[in-house]
Amino acid sequence: MTSAAARTKSSHPREIRLRGAIASPGIAIARCFKHDVGIRIVEKRKISADAVEGEIQRLRDAMLSAREEIRQIQFEADRVVGDAMAKIFEAQLMILDDETFINSVAVEIARQKLNAEFVYQRQIQRNLKSLRKSNDSYLKEMANDINATAAKVFGFLVGRHSNKLVNNKNKIALAEEFSPGEIVLINKYGIPGYATQVGGSTSHMALIAKSLSIPAVVGVSGLLERCPDGATVIVDGNRGEVIVHPSEETLSEYKAERRKRRSYLSKELQGLGKLEHTTKDGTEVEILANLEIPTDVDQSLASGNIGVGLYRTEFFYLASMKFPSEADQTRIYSEIARTFFPNPVTMRTFDLGSDKTTGEYHQIDEDNPAMGWRGIRFHLDLPRVFRTQIKALLRASEFRNIRIMLPMVSSPSELAKARRIINSVKRELKAEKIKYDPDIEVGIMVEVPATAIMAESLARHADFFSVGTNDLIQYALAVDRGNKKVAKLYREYHPGVLRLVDMTIKAGIKTGTPVSLCGEMAGKSLSVPLLLGMGLRSFSVTPPRVPSLIKIINRLDISACEELTARVSELATAEKIEALLLDWFTRNVGEKYLEG
Ligand code: PEP
Ligand code: MG
Repeated sequence: MTSAAARTKSSHPREIRLRGAIASPGIAIARCFKHDVGIRIVEKRKISADAVEGEIQRLRDAMLSAREEIRQIQFEADRVVGDAMAKIFEAQLMILDDETFINSVAVEIARQKLNAEFVYQRQIQRNLKSLRKSNDSYLKEMANDINATAAKVFGFLVGRHSNKLVNNKNKIALAEEFSPGEIVLINKYGIPGYATQVGGSTSHMALIAKSLSIPAVVGVSGLLERCPDGATVIVDGNRGEVIVHPSEETLSEYKAERRKRRSYLSKELQGLGKLEHTTKDGTEVEILANLEIPTDVDQSLASGNIGVGLYRTEFFYLASMKFPSEADQTRIYSEIARTFFPNPVTMRTFDLGSDKTTGEYHQIDEDNPAMGWRGIRFHLDLPRVFRTQIKALLRASEFRNIRIMLPMVSSPSELAKARRIINSVKRELKAEKIKYDPDIEVGIMVEVPATAIMAESLARHADFFSVGTNDLIQYALAVDRGNKKVAKLYREYHPGVLRLVDMTIKAGIKTGTPVSLCGEMAGKSLSVPLLLGMGLRSFSVTPPRVPSLIKIINRLDISACEELTARVSELATAEKIEALLLDWFTRNVGEKYLEG
């Protein structure tokens, strides 16, 4: 080795590998930037009496610049993803317009003769401390908004602009945490991947990243400290790792892996239309996608003859923390229905509550929010919000491909009440001479164990079922789906869980009620033959999983799947079931299709 080469080699910073949890698969390699990492430590500096006015002006100028910057991002967001998403920034603008707060900082600067950034930072920290102590999710949300806004003002005060998603195309974003709206912008602004210090892998933020195919790793301790701004970083969403300053060798290994994956996915998505949705023995299987917001892949899915098995409409609320108006909802739902026509679009009414809390309504503390005020319970207690959404869905139903799906139903009476409201909205539309699909189907999510057990009697009131294993597993096994500490107990192949899924499918077959499965389990390679063997004929998965799901189905034979399912039903533990499924899959489908 020449001495020059040796020097170069030794000056390369040491490779650091940080572990986190997988939020969304894929590999991103790029330089990184830290996105609004909060307020930095500043020096306390005395100023003269003459300097007070200038100092207050400096604060006001920084706030104006921050305002301008947020307006620009809001404008961009509106342009690329629509006004519902852009409204997320309104809370930040309101914070900047809070004259009482600005005056209190100005008074302190004048009274104590201290520099603006120090006083501003101190006041903000005081506010954040009291808000963060609260258990109220609305106040916690407000604390996040204040933190994000203050970081921008602070950046201008110290002459260092806060980083912006809009200006960091092709760079990896690092942050303490991202909001759902920001994940959407990450996708739109060409940011190839992200990593965060907090967050769990089954959170809804992780699901949206997965659905948008953004490689992401969450819950990486020490991320912001150990990863300098501008460093080369690999986000390995397949293994849940962030590699800082990767060596030449690591880089070339990962580049090869990324190339393979990228060309695989884009080729596969474009070629969807050519694939038959049948098993080897010619049995038809319905293939659907889970979606949250309109994206570029919608068109590829639609032209590939893929319908929508789960549209999580609550993301329209979560991105802006406001319920879109009836007119806005009608427009959004109509566009989606038109894109996917003639395939079905299953619109799940807002599934709010639990980890998807609403600032406005979830102001009362709940000890167990996952078992609390969520899904259909929220709708029936707030019929105004529910009626508005139903009215918009009905108005958008002229293509007759929209289906309404109700979340978290746990008893026939809940479904009956919801149906009464839906019928009353239909009468209202009829009186107003507004067209809608009079035969629109109304189905339910089966995600509460009691609902799976009672599926046969619920079938009398439901037009279809969709099994939501993400929640069904957490409720059946009493394992919080977002809690890293008990993640190893969250097992889809637990015999108790499988029995609930099987009961629902069998109840559907017996009563002639179509059953789909839209939980993450539908996209797991090992569960596909098992579910087919139980009699499932409709799968709804995240868009990147669609091509490989079809290819797996093409390689399966129903009678062989039924034999496998019978063998699984004899086994008493999740470990034994998983081992059998793995062995069977490797021999009958092939290792190549194991991913996922
Ligand atoms: C589920 O619970 O399986 C589901 C699909 O709904 P979500 O993940 O939105 O709770
Ligand atoms: Mg659910």
